[in-house]
Amino acid sequence: MSNCADSRPKVLVIEDEETLLFTLKHNLKREGYNVFAAARGDDGLRLAREQHPDLIVLDLMLPGIDGMQLCRLLRRDTDVPIIMVTALGGEGDRVAGLDCGADDYVAKPFGMRELMARIRALLRRSGARTTPDAGPPVVTSGDLELDRERREVRLDGIPMKMKPKEMDLLLFFAQHRGRVLSREQILDEVWGYDFYGGPRTVDVHVRWIRQKIEADAAHPTRLRTVRGSGYLFEG
Ligand code: CA
Repeated sequence: MSNCADSRPKVLVIEDEETLLFTLKHNLKREGYNVFAAARGDDGLRLAREQHPDLIVLDLMLPGIDGMQLCRLLRRDTDVPIIMVTALGGEGDRVAGLDCGADDYVAKPFGMRELMARIRALLRRSGARTTPDAGPPVVTSGDLELDRERREVRLDGIPMKMKPKEMDLLLFFAQHRGRVLSREQILDEVWGYDFYGGPRTVDVHVRWIRQKIEADAAHPTRLRTVRGSGYLFEG
């Protein structure tokens, strides 16, 4: 089957630890990425040149060519985002990893959720599409317009005043209209992995948003609570 029409971001994983490679592939596929994998540095370099991935997850200690050298070689002809993964967590290694041109760094053992969030953040920064279903740029719900391109929410054509996080959250709901989103998923996507607030943060922001977009915030029809699961923007 041809990959020509595949719009999913391509992620290349170069990792020689079999179990970790398996887990990484599984998680990346579940997140909707088009995943390529290599267990050796030289194979990884070849795949990187053939496939032009949108992001590379790169282990430091590898057979063939090690991660550091591979990173330098890649940097000669591409600025693809690279996340370095390594068992060596010392500051010296971290600096060396970033010095050779890696964009980010995680030390083993690391949480998959954290790595996935870092990948999304890097892809966002590099301008690649972070999700295969980005959705329409403007979502309309009656007299309400959610404009993701202009980062604007309009009621009867008039832009509404919103705090940046309220805007982020509402536009995130608009992007996933009709889908139930868990608080954890929302925290992860809208606030990011480095945010230490709890799920209550989401509830509070939802309440603020409802006061702005619902006719009756106590009985919401647009942004609904799905008991035990999270929130659903029906629009
Ligand atoms: Ca290794």
